[in-house]
Formats: sequence, structure tokens, C-alpha cells
Amino acid sequence: MSPPLQALLWDVDGTLAETERDGHRRAFNRAFADAGIPLHWDRELYGELLQVTGGRERITAGLTQLRGEVPAADEVEALQRAKQQHYAALVEAGELSLRPGVAEMITAAAGAGLRQAIVTTSGRPAVEALARRCLGDLAEAFELWVCGDDVQRKKPDPEGYRQALERLDLPAAAAVAIEDSGNGLQAAVGAGLTCVITLSHYGRRELLATFPLATAVVEGLGADGRVARGPACGGGGVTLSYLQQLQAGAF
Ligand SMILES: [Mg+2]
Repeated sequence: MSPPLQALLWDVDGTLAETERDGHRRAFNRAFADAGIPLHWDRELYGELLQVTGGRERITAGLTQLRGEVPAADEVEALQRAKQQHYAALVEAGELSLRPGVAEMITAAAGAGLRQAIVTTSGRPAVEALARRCLGDLAEAFELWVCGDDVQRKKPDPEGYRQALERLDLPAAAAVAIEDSGNGLQAAVGAGLTCVITLSHYGRRELLATFPLATAVVEGLGADGRVARGPACGGGGVTLSYLQQLQAGAF
């Protein structure tokens, strides 16, 4: 018997907004261009690079592939800083927005007294920029952010989720994670969480082999959401009550 659902743990990139395709990817490219580095990640190539989680790690992988040797740590650090500034500028310019149904779900969960946290591999500056511009007042619904800087091992390692549960003082059985990628799913399941995958631009092209671990795979959240795989949602849409039933194992 599961305890009642007490918390939603949210991934950021691809889950709250299409940040990877429209934000991070372009910010990396601007940082490379500024530094005179002949690297440009198009939508397709960037999809493959998403296998490498973390900005510094992705820059290191790109430069290593370009030059045939691992770049110096200070070069990676400088590029990562420049990339973070470009990302913040893109977000501030209003080029990113929340995915459909996200605001609806955050509001419904807050209204039902659920606790909410962010568990992301992104650095804190990127999350702050997004929270300020895209979440607005909804940011108050999140009592905790576990960012890439807060963990030793990034997703697919479950450390971030374990840390969030520990800081919320909740058992995994009392929470649901919302993710869009195989790496995120593995991290959530590794921490013992029920995980719902909300398919994003890049998430939908990932190996379906990882998704059976998800309790459900959905296309969007809220009244207009649709279940792509998993138990059907009674009233249609992908509502908070649907997440509550998934977590309770009611299906
Ligand atoms: Mg993601």
C-alpha cells in the first residue's frame, strides 16, 4: 500500500520547456562562435550529444571529438560560463516558454497541498533564468532545487533524486518524478520513484528500450495531455489525479 502522493519532482530541460533544442543548444553554439571554435551543433547532432549529461561534460566531449585530445579544464570552464550567459540572455529575451499543461499541473499540485521540487542536471544560473522568466509566480511552488552543481554524479545516476527526497524528508513511494529522457528516467527509477515520461522534441526520438521503466509515457500534461503508453486516464488528459492513481498503483 503506497502512502498518498505528497510531492512532484520535476526535471527541467525538455520537461518544463524545450530548453535543450531552443535554449542550451543555441547558447553552446554562441559560446563556441565567440571563442572562434569551429563547432556548431545542429538540431540533429545535438540530439546525439544529449547522451552526455552536463554542460561541461558536453563541451569536453565536443572539443575532444574536434581535436582528438581532451581540452584543458580552464578552457572548458570559460566556455561553460560564456554558454550560461548566452542561455540566460536567450531566456530573458523570451525565446523559451513552458510546455503545454506544465503551468496547469504545477498549479493543481500546489492547490492540492503537494510539495514540489526541481531535480536537474543543469547549472543553477540556467534554472534561475528560466524560473524568473518562464515560471514567474509559479516558481514559489518549488520549495527545493537540486541542480547539477549540487551533486557529485549527474543523471542517469540517482544521486539528485535521492538528495531531493532526503531534503524533503519523504520516502520515494510518496513522490512522482516527471522526466522526458532515458537518462532522467533511469535516475528517477534508480531512486525508487514512480516516473512519468512527458515526450519532448528529443525525448521522443530516444531508444524506446528505456521507456518500459516508466509507469506511463505521455504527450503533454494537463487537460490537453494524452497518454501514449500506460494506463489510460479516466477523464482524458493527464491530470494530477492521474498521477495520484499511477503512484498509488491503482491501475
Ligand atoms: Mg530532461
